[in-house]
Amino acid sequence: MLIDTHCHLDFPAFDPDRGQVIRRALEAGINYFINIGATLESSAASCELAQKHPEIYATVGLHPHDADTFDSSSAEKLRQMASGKKVVAIGETGLDHYRNLSGKENQKQAFLKQIALAKELNLPVVVHCRQAEEETLRILKAALPLEAVVHCFSGDKSFLQECLGCGFFISFTCNITYKKAQGLRDMVSLTPLDKLMLETDAPYLSPEGFRGKRNEPFQIKLLADEVSRIKGVSFEEIAGRTTQNAKEFFNLG
Ligand SMILES: [Zn+2]
Repeated sequence: MLIDTHCHLDFPAFDPDRGQVIRRALEAGINYFINIGATLESSAASCELAQKHPEIYATVGLHPHDADTFDSSSAEKLRQMASGKKVVAIGETGLDHYRNLSGKENQKQAFLKQIALAKELNLPVVVHCRQAEEETLRILKAALPLEAVVHCFSGDKSFLQECLGCGFFISFTCNITYKKAQGLRDMVSLTPLDKLMLETDAPYLSPEGFRGKRNEPFQIKLLADEVSRIKGVSFEEIAGRTTQNAKEFFNLG
C-alpha cells in the first residue's frame, strides 16, 4: 500500500484520461491520493475530485506562483472550501524565489495568511519552498507549533535539520531518481523514516527514464524503490512507514 501525498489530478494534463490514471494507480497499489490545491479554481476542483472518488483527499491553497492573485477575499474562499469533509490540509503555499512568478512580498503575505488559516482550522500545511529556505524557516518558526510538510524537498543539509528540528515532515518526489541528484539522495539518507513521505507531484517530475513525459501517481512505486535502495530496507517497510506517516499527518480516517 502506498499513498501519493502530493499530486495535481485536477490539472488539464489529466483531462483526457483522468479516470484511467486513477484506475492505473489503484491497480498498482496506490490506495490514496492527496490532491493539492494550487489556485482557488484548482482548490475547488480538488474538493470536487475528493467528493467523487473515495480514495482522493483534497487540500486547498494558493501556490506562491499565484500569490499575486491572493486578495482580501481569497482567505475567506479558502476557509469556506476547507470546511469540506475531505479537506485534509492547507496548501500548497510557501515561497518560490527561483521562478519568482509572483512578487516576493505578495508570496510572503499569502503564505502568512494561509498559515494563519491552517492554525485557525487546526489543519496541517503543505509547504512549497524553492531557493527561499532562510525566509521560509523564519516564517514557519514564528508560527510554531505548526504541523507542516516540506514538499518536493530541494534544500541542503542545514535546512533539512532545521525542518526536522521543528518536527516537520519531509516529502520527496521522483526527482531523486535523476542521475545528477546525488545531493537529494543524500538528503533522503539523512531523513528519518518516521518523518519521510512520498509524492509524485504529477503531472510534473517524471522519474528517470520517463523525463519529459507526463508523470502519474502509479510511478510512485519507482520512487519507493529508490528510497528503499538508499535506505537499505525493504520496499514493504518503506511503503508501510510512509503510509503510516501520511495517515498520521493528514489525519486520514
Ligand atoms: Zn505541487
